[in-house]
Amino acid sequence: MGTPMPTPDKIDFTKLPIYKPEVECASRERIRAIQLARLIQQVEYTYARVPWYRSQMDEMGVSPADIKTLEDVRLLPFTDKAALRETFPFGMFATPLDEIVELHSSSGTTGKPIVVGYTKEDMDVWSECIARLAQMAGVTAADRVQMAFGYGMFTGGFGLHYGVQRIGGTMIPAGAGNTERHIQMIEDYGTTVLIATPSYAMHICEVGESMGFDWASSTLQVGLFGGEPCPPGLKTEIESRMHITCTDNYGLTEVMGPGVSGECLAHRDQQHIAEDHFLWEVVDPETGEPVAEGEMGELVLTPLDKKGIPVLRYRTHDLTRVVTDKCECGRTLARMQKVRSRCDDMLIIRGTNVFPSQVEDVISDIELLAPHYHIIVDNETGLDRMTVEVEIKPEAFSDSYEEMKGFAGEVRDKLRSVLLVTPVVKLVEPGGLTRTMGKAKHVDDLRK
Ligand SMILES: [Zn+2]
Repeated sequence: MGTPMPTPDKIDFTKLPIYKPEVECASRERIRAIQLARLIQQVEYTYARVPWYRSQMDEMGVSPADIKTLEDVRLLPFTDKAALRETFPFGMFATPLDEIVELHSSSGTTGKPIVVGYTKEDMDVWSECIARLAQMAGVTAADRVQMAFGYGMFTGGFGLHYGVQRIGGTMIPAGAGNTERHIQMIEDYGTTVLIATPSYAMHICEVGESMGFDWASSTLQVGLFGGEPCPPGLKTEIESRMHITCTDNYGLTEVMGPGVSGECLAHRDQQHIAEDHFLWEVVDPETGEPVAEGEMGELVLTPLDKKGIPVLRYRTHDLTRVVTDKCECGRTLARMQKVRSRCDDMLIIRGTNVFPSQVEDVISDIELLAPHYHIIVDNETGLDRMTVEVEIKPEAFSDSYEEMKGFAGEVRDKLRSVLLVTPVVKLVEPGGLTRTMGKAKHVDDLRK
């Protein structure tokens, strides 16, 4: 697991506002009662309106009347990306298009994108979920919030935009790109909150430093991150260099977009799930059977009041574990461990399972390495070969070939001890690995 993150001394998280305490701090019994009432309604709604689910359930011999407890969710069919693709674009919609007020889509890097539609009620739930996580990070109506996500079809931009407006914050919709302009705007407008992917926030930080911008005395206080998993090492680095507190949230287009869960400052490797809107299950990715409470498995989500596209039991392919004890921040909503790996991220190298997050953890523990890496896997020579490119910090740079070779060897040995696979380690000069505006791409699997 990742390095535990300290809560910055300046923030007393027990004093931060809670957006909807009657739900976020309700008893577990109360939360389960809300979930059950909504689940029953949602299954009826979905069965009545979406032919795809009706035929799946008929085939399985399940009817909405069979849902009597929360555990009965297991009687329902799973949904995966393939089902949403097959029915492209609007086959899974439960309402006519004239009730849909906004469309978004997944990036569609492989094959057709997935299109999702939101009714007015859906937009309301979505912005509330974002408002909750923004408040968990301390954002209030007094904040000036600069958007560095792209707007467009991607759910991150508009989702965060509406949620911040919901609590009365001032949105500055700068959008993606033009890093120097972002820095200028922070200075001109007195921006206090930055919304970005963690890798782009790091890029803004570095460009600012190279321009001589003094982050320590800037108005910026909070980073709201999303769009990609945030390695703990990268976050610590950004927090210390930009002098801000950063939280990240979790979500996916297929079930809503960002806002399914968000980090509070009491447990920085976990995120509170908006359980009144999402029923979670953790299952064994191979068998689909539930794992014991607190065990690691694949997260499965059922949105409980979604009207545009009511998805049942969506298989996220994200690996996590969930705990339900009361949090020190006062919330009782369950906490999921931050997703570091996806079932399908797993690389099988010479028969050994390797997760990119393991590489990330090793790198973040090595003082002289920057939190950037790139993995290349090929089999040109007939055998799998894994190459890890890592970026050294300026203070580790040396003209001596021998010294650099020795350092690469140390990194290789540390990686080998964790991965049980021996990689080739290539040291890259400071700033040498590509930074991206959107999701960082950490792996190239070139095997034929
Ligand atoms: Zn908490």
